[in-house]
Parts: sequence; C-alpha cells; structure tokens
Amino acid sequence: MSGPPNNVVQLRKVRSERTAKRAEGKTLCSSGFHKWETLKHSHFDVKQGKLVTTQQCSRCGQQRVQGT
Ligand SMILES: [Zn+2]
Repeated sequence: MSGPPNNVVQLRKVRSERTAKRAEGKTLCSSGFHKWETLKHSHFDVKQGKLVTTQQCSRCGQQRVQGT
C-alpha cells in the first residue's frame, strides 16, 4: 500500500509538539526561569520575623519564599 493513513501522521505530529513544549518548560526551570504562582499572599513569618509571600512554580512544583 502507500504508507500510513493520514490521521496517524497527524497524531504523531501533535505528540512531538507536546513533548517539545514540556521540554522547553523544564529547560526554563533548570535555567532558573520558573513560572511562579503565589500560593500564600503576604503573611507574617514568625521564624523570619517579617512579611513573606510563598510562591510555587506551576511547571516543576518548586517553592520559594519571598521576603518583603
Ligand atoms: Zn519551575
């Protein structure tokens, strides 16, 4: 016959694009460019003795605490 049907080719293309997007996100994260989202808005951290904001990266799940 004449190669795979068209829809199989289409599916393969979508999959590779999705993988590329995920890889791009990981590269950004490992370079320190996280996608920070605020988990907790400014609250008083007793240990640090100051107002802090807790943020989490929506791609890799890493957390950080920002002081004010
Ligand atoms: Zn990240």
